[in-house]
Amino acid sequence: MNKPSNRQTESLRDKDKNHNLHPWQHFDSMKENGALVIANSEGAYIYDNDGNKYLDGLGGMWCVNVGYGRDELADVMAEQARKLPYASTFGDTTNPPAAELAAKLALLAPGSINHVIFSGSGSAANDSAIRLAHYYQARRGKPEKKHIISRKQAYHGSTYLGASLSGHDKAGDNFQYVSDIIHHISAPDVYRRPDGMSVEAFCNHLVDEFKAKVAELGADNIAAFLGEPILGSGGVMVPPEGYLQRIHQHCQEHDILFIADEVVTAFGRLGHMFASKDFFGIQPDIILSAKGITSGYIPLAATLFTDEIFDVISAPDSDACFAHGFTYSGHPVACAVALKNIEILERENLCGHVKEMGPYFVERLQGLKDLPLVGDVRGTGYMHCIEYVADKETKELLPDEIGISKLISDACEKRGVMVRPVWHLNILSPPLVMSREQIDHLVEVLKESVLAVAADLKK
Ligand code: PLP
Repeated sequence: MNKPSNRQTESLRDKDKNHNLHPWQHFDSMKENGALVIANSEGAYIYDNDGNKYLDGLGGMWCVNVGYGRDELADVMAEQARKLPYASTFGDTTNPPAAELAAKLALLAPGSINHVIFSGSGSAANDSAIRLAHYYQARRGKPEKKHIISRKQAYHGSTYLGASLSGHDKAGDNFQYVSDIIHHISAPDVYRRPDGMSVEAFCNHLVDEFKAKVAELGADNIAAFLGEPILGSGGVMVPPEGYLQRIHQHCQEHDILFIADEVVTAFGRLGHMFASKDFFGIQPDIILSAKGITSGYIPLAATLFTDEIFDVISAPDSDACFAHGFTYSGHPVACAVALKNIEILERENLCGHVKEMGPYFVERLQGLKDLPLVGDVRGTGYMHCIEYVADKETKELLPDEIGISKLISDACEKRGVMVRPVWHLNILSPPLVMSREQIDHLVEVLKESVLAVAADLKK
């Protein structure tokens, strides 16, 4: 049983409720309940302001890869802030952490990916990738190659462009989007593939749809395909075998850049520093990452690209200038934290830990499949999701008003475990330090919570 809120917590909650507009805020529930005030952390645990302890099944927001409470990261942050808290990288100045991190990322990234544009968020890294793709195509004499093919249910961020690239249902959400150059094809949702279709046939169907979109727009008009190797917030969709490879091949054959959004999948979540090559066997032209690059200790993102792109954009032309970048590009404190964070990931072999524990995580979660309400359990490494349904046969969803994933995440929270509610899914993306015993605890609490909510709904 959780300790009740103390007076300070109530005051914080009121201040927050009255002045802080949260990402994806749902106004009614926020007005009624306010937010949970998270105040402390250690390892794979977070603590609220009243001292209640929670096992963090979210890893913050798929980002606290090395876990909480790392003195080394706090120390390097303080040291760098004392020495040089800020330095611009506009034009021809740089700073030691930015230069060192750029070189380190070039070593870690696959193939000829040896260059980086730094920014401050995954959304900005997506913006940078698209602007780079446009700039590159124009510099090589193909300015008409502007169109981008993305996917439904994809998530690429919350800037104007990032949200436009994302593939959620935008009807009636009261925003405006870039629509003239962005196209969305179907997501690789294996669970919800057409009835009676084999996974192999579904894969053919998806690849055919991509090829048809390329033919419709004309390859001469397409700058890039953009995709998350595992489509994350849209429902942890692990694509069918061969899907990414075939899309990648078609891109290569039709002079279309392949951009991998590895904001979630990079830095260990799938057991590799980057998943595109090591996990899926494809060599993107551009990889973008954020989150795990600093384990969320400080904002930083990176848009990484190949020598081939660099050679084109840096070819002699006295008028040429890559007119893109941010005040905080290559921020010395953020880059110093990223270097130390990568050192920790390597020193503690956290990729090895994920490779070792990932299959056990899968096995334990698969044990939930027979529970009431559970339609599908999917994922790999330390990236998973549970999809809830009203009817396991028809896969029919429960009515939205029930808010099934929030009911279950609330039940978990009451029992000291955090899982993320999204639509009719609970997403799991814990810190990579999560141990076997902690996985056991997480799965047990999830099971208990699903059963409790199912019993309540039955009543
Ligand atoms: N791309 C992917 C795959 C993401 O999951 C996210 C965030 O969850 C983003 C981009 C956007 O990152 P940010 O919230 O740092 O802007």
